Amino acid sequence: MGSHFQTVVDLDATAADARALAALGVDWLVREGIVRAGMTPCVPGAPLGHPPGDSWASAVEEADWEPTDGLRVETGRTVFDGGQGEPRYAVCPHCAGRVELATEDWDPVEEAWEPFEEAIAAWRASGRAVVACPGCGREGELPAWRWEDDHHAFGHLGFEFWDWPAFSPAFLDRFGRALGGHRLVVVGGKF
Ligand SMILES: [Zn+2]
Repeated sequence: MGSHFQTVVDLDATAADARALAALGVDWLVREGIVRAGMTPCVPGAPLGHPPGDSWASAVEEADWEPTDGLRVETGRTVFDGGQGEPRYAVCPHCAGRVELATEDWDPVEEAWEPFEEAIAAWRASGRAVVACPGCGREGELPAWRWEDDHHAFGHLGFEFWDWPAFSPAFLDRFGRALGGHRLVVVGGKF
């Protein structure tokens, strides 16, 4: 069985303020009792993370099982994605039109994917990329495009929680306010 993760990505954190915001976010989570300040080996892919705190249940939609692992914070330019599989469509930030990236049978539509693949590589390299919408013809910043199930997010700060129940919208709202009124998106999946 793989591990499940949910990464809360701060869409408004910049390369310059990501580390300070990471510290602010962890402080807030510790104060709320959602994670513990003391770090333990509780996350895949890193030596240490913050284990769940006494009030972890206040962050989740349904506290019907206990989180088994902890929080790892990622800073720096990162393509956050949902792990296995690919999104079936992307949504234009201007016209809200969908670009179909896969057929009904889940076969990728290569010519539709290509501009996104190029933009993802460019964003990884430089932090800037746009994709022209085939529907309205306008260019949209790559991070402004939305994806099926929020499969991708492009940002500089992510709070990666391993094996937690789904977060509640109320918690995400409070967390976003604690980070200075920033927009958050949750990218989740399995590894
Ligand atoms: Zn469009």
